[in-house]
Amino acid sequence: MKIKKLDIVGFKSFLDKASIAFPTGISAIVGPNGCGKSNVIDALRWVMGEQSVKQLRGKAMEDIIFAGASNKPPLNMAEVTLTMVNDNGHAPEEFRDFTEISVTRRLYRSGESAYLINRQPCRLKDIYNLFMGSGVGSRTFAIIQQGNIGAIIDAGPDERRLFIEEAAGVTRYKFRKNEALRKVKSTEQNLLRINDIIAEVNRQMAGLRRQAKKAERYKSFKQRVRRLDTHLLLNYHDQFSVEIEETEKLLKTLKDTDVNHVTQLKKIDAAVEEIKLKRWQKNQEISAQKSEQFENQRKIERTEADRVHLKNEIQRLADEAVELGQAKETLKGKTADIAAEVEQAEAQNTKVREQAEALRQQIDHERSGAQGLNDELGQLNQRLDASKNSLMTLVAEEARYKNTCQNASNNKENIQ
Ligand code: ATP
Repeated sequence: MKIKKLDIVGFKSFLDKASIAFPTGISAIVGPNGCGKSNVIDALRWVMGEQSVKQLRGKAMEDIIFAGASNKPPLNMAEVTLTMVNDNGHAPEEFRDFTEISVTRRLYRSGESAYLINRQPCRLKDIYNLFMGSGVGSRTFAIIQQGNIGAIIDAGPDERRLFIEEAAGVTRYKFRKNEALRKVKSTEQNLLRINDIIAEVNRQMAGLRRQAKKAERYKSFKQRVRRLDTHLLLNYHDQFSVEIEETEKLLKTLKDTDVNHVTQLKKIDAAVEEIKLKRWQKNQEISAQKSEQFENQRKIERTEADRVHLKNEIQRLADEAVELGQAKETLKGKTADIAAEVEQAEAQNTKVREQAEALRQQIDHERSGAQGLNDELGQLNQRLDASKNSLMTLVAEEARYKNTCQNASNNKENIQ
């Protein structure tokens, strides 16, 4: 097998897809320091199944995914595909028919990873198996990292033996031999277990034979029991047939009775319904009477309140009548006083008239007498005028008292 090409995308410094071809002859990759030459070797190791992060010059497996550069965002996936030509038939048997074999490894930043051989998903073990004994592989002498040549020269005998075996191409067979020996061992173990099982089964055979004999006896008894059961069942059948016939007759009679009972029950149901209806009507009447009773009660209460109110009113009017009677008595007294005053005024009036008459006579007597008496007459006239005025006043007072008297008698009539 020969390496044909290496396709790298998203691995370390390889942002864009890079395809490195390895034609026949010597191939060399040249470039300035830090341009990514060693990353090609890392990609080669990684795709061959390298699991050590240290060997890949990183701290975590995630470091092998392109982490971003100036103006270039980081990627989420790294993929490396190694394509080999199978021209000498050194490939394992299962891939012998392929002229080209491609191995792919993929890693996502989420941690998911995938291994593929010829674009078909496979296990890591299948990839190890593919490279075993071919001299190539993640940790074989075929890949020597920069500054690691001394590691091979200084290797111990065991490690050197591994390198020589790998170069001789016997690693795969050695691995297969170990696998076969492991399988032989496990088969021997299985054989031992099977022998144990056979011994156990032989031990159980005698018991099983006894059980088989018992089972045969049981079978013959069972057949006999079945025959007897059949006879018994036939007897039962006849007996039960007669019983069924009688029961059917009885059932028919009972059905007729049941029909009668159902009819009666329907009648009773109708009567019950009627009673329920009447009871409902009665309930309605009772509630109507209760409403009426409630209304009457309310009327009685209202009338009672009215009665109390009227009683209070009568009491109040009686008190008022008593007060008016007293007022009437007072007015009567006042009327009597006024009448006395009127009488007194009339007597005074009469007296004044008599005085006026006497004066008039005296004036007449005096007039005929002397002139000097004229002055006296004038004075007397003045006194007469004053008396007249007084008389007028008394007349007005009399009219006033009469009015008062009239009003009092009117009030009296009104009160009565
Ligand atoms: P030298 O000649 O000094 O050995 P080199 O050519 O072998 O150098 P490498 O060591 O292969 O160079 O590559 C180093 C470069 O790869 C560095 O520039 C580094 O920034 C870059 N690099 C490594 N890992 C990543 C990553 N995950 N993402 C982006 N760039 C990375």
